[in-house]
Amino acid sequence: MVYLIVLLLLIGLGLLWLARRRRAATGLPPGRVVSIDTEHLGRFERSLYDPTLNLAGRPDYLVERLGKLVPVEVKSARAPFGPYPSHVLQLAAYCALVDAIYGKRPSYGIVKYADRAFSVDYSLSLENELLDLLAEMRRAEHHKPDRSHESVSRCQACGFHQICDQMLE
Ligand code: SF4
Repeated sequence: MVYLIVLLLLIGLGLLWLARRRRAATGLPPGRVVSIDTEHLGRFERSLYDPTLNLAGRPDYLVERLGKLVPVEVKSARAPFGPYPSHVLQLAAYCALVDAIYGKRPSYGIVKYADRAFSVDYSLSLENELLDLLAEMRRAEHHKPDRSHESVSRCQACGFHQICDQMLE
């Protein structure tokens, strides 16, 4: 399970890196403000899994707009200037899953914050960024780091001890 932790860290770092790159390239936030009311929508309860990408996830909502499926992710925080890069990549992952499961490629997804919602194009370049990140994660799977200490008390105080397979007891 340490490997899972490392993967999560890598995802975070990868998302930060992608964020900087995206913003540097465009100078603009990656989303457009849109209107969506999720109050009367039913939550999407099904988990999606694509064995080819070895990717799983579940958007909060999956709505149909003009014959297209649109994944919607809801965040409770107030909206930043543009959607956070990690949220953009999360949406991209949902778009990839919807494409794989339903055979309909979403042209965009929506991330809805407490006070504003953004539409994010599921462009080929965003898809490629997602695939690059997934490939990076796969490579990291083969470099699982070992525990770096022999301290039982440190493991006992560690927030990951319940899921860590290298915990000292
Ligand atoms: S401190 Fe111990 S429990 Fe926490 S991640 Fe490291 S080895 Fe695992």
